[in-house]
Amino acid sequence: MSPKQIFRAAALAVAGAFLSGPAAAAEELVVYSARIEQLIKPMFDAYTKETGVKITFITDKEGALIERLKAEGPNTPADMLITVDAGNLWQATNEGLLKPVQSEALGKNVPVHLKDPQNRWFGLSVRSRTIFYNTQKVKPAELSSYEDLASSKWKGRLCLRTSKKVYNQSLVAMMIAEHGEPKTEQLVKGWVANLATDPFPDDTKMLEAIAAGQCDVGMANTYYFGRLVAKKPNLPLGIFWANQQGSGVHVNVSGAGITKHAKHDKEALKLLEWLSSEKAQNLFADVNMEFPVNARVKPDPVVAAWGSFKQNLINVAKAGELQAAAVKLMDRAGYK
Ligand code: FE
Repeated sequence: MSPKQIFRAAALAVAGAFLSGPAAAAEELVVYSARIEQLIKPMFDAYTKETGVKITFITDKEGALIERLKAEGPNTPADMLITVDAGNLWQATNEGLLKPVQSEALGKNVPVHLKDPQNRWFGLSVRSRTIFYNTQKVKPAELSSYEDLASSKWKGRLCLRTSKKVYNQSLVAMMIAEHGEPKTEQLVKGWVANLATDPFPDDTKMLEAIAAGQCDVGMANTYYFGRLVAKKPNLPLGIFWANQQGSGVHVNVSGAGITKHAKHDKEALKLLEWLSSEKAQNLFADVNMEFPVNARVKPDPVVAAWGSFKQNLINVAKAGELQAAAVKLMDRAGYK
């Protein structure tokens, strides 16, 4: 090659790298999300605006998405799975659907108890499941812990959501992690013995029953309380941070992991890091009145007004590991 030809070849190679290199890899990402469209689209739009990366997503129930990832295997177009509840994230890793990543940013942004010990998924928002009470019938000083709700002083005064919901399965799984099965079974039996009425299909109906005086106390995720009082600010409903003298409030996460067969894994990691960053954490948490995982980010003012609280620091992966045991235990205890 003449010097001129070498120069031309080099120039073409540079141009080629420029056109097909970073641009092609960065153009598109595919996300499967069990978080509904209203909760994820604003973040994806912000990310696309900032980076130019286009994000295609589908939303469905977590079980359906996990089945779909299994069925698609190596042919899946999905780069990332977003879902609610660590129990579901654990299930996805148990099926081998997510892969570990190394990331300094995620290490810094996501507390140890809110991510997979093997770095295959990371919590992105915190959901707290705590105690709610009728302010006309209960004084906060009468309340203390989830365990106390099993004591006979609450006989005929407790409402629960159904044990079929993963939130309660995770709560009981975390109690097993803390107390062991025999003690947890006694506690759950105590709850059942204290029920004012049959378990409710969702947290909102249960909170409404407390407000209506059908029962005095119950447990719910705080964002259901937030949504309800936003619509009906005068309901006699109070929030109580459970177990503050003990191990802390039961928390769970919404979170995400990169799929084992991701075609754009480097780009997916960039999105995951961005979602945990100061820039995006309010977008992720505030839209559903949840708490940011990133300790440097403050919650939405409405959420912050509920007060600060100590979280239970047991790793949320336990919610998955002990889920099957929790389901069996609740069944034995007669918790429908
Ligand atoms: Fe929910």
